[in-house]
Amino acid sequence: MTDKNKKNTLTCPSCNKEFIYEGLEKNKAFPFCSKRCKMIDLGRWLDDEYRIECAQDNLEDEF
Ligand SMILES: [Zn+2]
Repeated sequence: MTDKNKKNTLTCPSCNKEFIYEGLEKNKAFPFCSKRCKMIDLGRWLDDEYRIECAQDNLEDEF
């Protein structure tokens, strides 16, 4: 039952590419396949947040 050669294949949430998870030491960008994908996803998230804040800012303009 100890299959040490079995690799964990994960799907990157950013680019949907399959990659092999070999532990946090090797996959520092986990759960993404690469640091680049992590940054892309973070950028997307921040962009959304920014837009929401902008919309709220407009609403509170007459405050
Ligand atoms: Zn990726």
